[in-house]
Amino acid sequence: MVTEILSQLDGLIASIQTNLYVDVVQPVLFHTHLMDYDEDIYDALYWVIVAVFEIVVTYAVLRPLEALRPIERWSDRKSVRADVWYTWIAKLGIVNMLFFVFLQPFFNHLETWMQVHNVWNVNLDEMWPGVTDQPVVSFLLYLVALDFAGYWYHRWQHRFGVWWELHAVHHSQRQMSLWNDDRNHFVDDVIQAAFLAALALLIGVQPGQFVVLVAISNGLQSVQHVNARLRYGWMLERLIVSPTFHRRHHAMEYGHTGTAYGCNFGVLLPWWDMLFKTASWDRSVEPTGITDQLAGAAGPGRAYGEGVWAQQWLALERIYVRVRRAVRRAPATEAA
Ligand SMILES: [Zn+2]
Ligand SMILES: [Zn+2]
Repeated sequence: MVTEILSQLDGLIASIQTNLYVDVVQPVLFHTHLMDYDEDIYDALYWVIVAVFEIVVTYAVLRPLEALRPIERWSDRKSVRADVWYTWIAKLGIVNMLFFVFLQPFFNHLETWMQVHNVWNVNLDEMWPGVTDQPVVSFLLYLVALDFAGYWYHRWQHRFGVWWELHAVHHSQRQMSLWNDDRNHFVDDVIQAAFLAALALLIGVQPGQFVVLVAISNGLQSVQHVNARLRYGWMLERLIVSPTFHRRHHAMEYGHTGTAYGCNFGVLLPWWDMLFKTASWDRSVEPTGITDQLAGAAGPGRAYGEGVWAQQWLALERIYVRVRRAVRRAPATEAA
């Protein structure tokens, strides 16, 4: 049934793609003398439509919930604006494009090198012939494997100072909403894409499956950030990461304090948090954000930037300060 729905969706998108191309894009390409790129642009158009579709559906489902049953009421929604930009940038695949341009040649080499040198790679779907090669089973296997990797990636984002400064872009949003998920540092996005792609290559995920895995993961992660009271119930909450569970991760002091402590790192499945004892099921609503954003005795709170570029730039500045401090400290420790 799932395959049928997917193929119908694919047909619908393909027909929009053709119409849009013939009526709008082709004439523009023709007039701007860019017809050399027509095939690439035609292919890219498919993914643009998928992205628009994804954003529209997410908005149509989640926005009414936010309006009807908000967890937090805000006097204005100004700070959400940057997150809307992040969502369009990420969903339209602009970051992925950077990844492909810079890293795809490297991955192609890696793949050939692995084949030539017969490097060990596990194909999870070949583990148990007759069972794990069933499409549904292999799909779930890959989902669990990639999610396990995602859990550790997220823990490292909180564990290492330089990495935390990149991830702080995500946590500096104090008004969590359906748009919050894609608010990330672009450098971190590229590292994450490379990490997951390398792993996918190693465990033998088919490219077609990888795209669906990423799409499912994206959809569920938008739900996790929604500013709406959504109760998953005891059982479901332990099966997949709920908005309550992820909101706890964003809670100041409770979910994380920069690199020192943290809970609820799970991306889609809370199982790893349960296994490695980092799960918190506390449902109390706490302010979200990073503690040093609050004004205190030491002065006004730290600014993480209002707009996309300010947020991106300030993260690099914080990294510079951190690295410079570490370099200055290093000789002193050596001497001692
Ligand atoms: Zn985090
Ligand atoms: Zn989050």
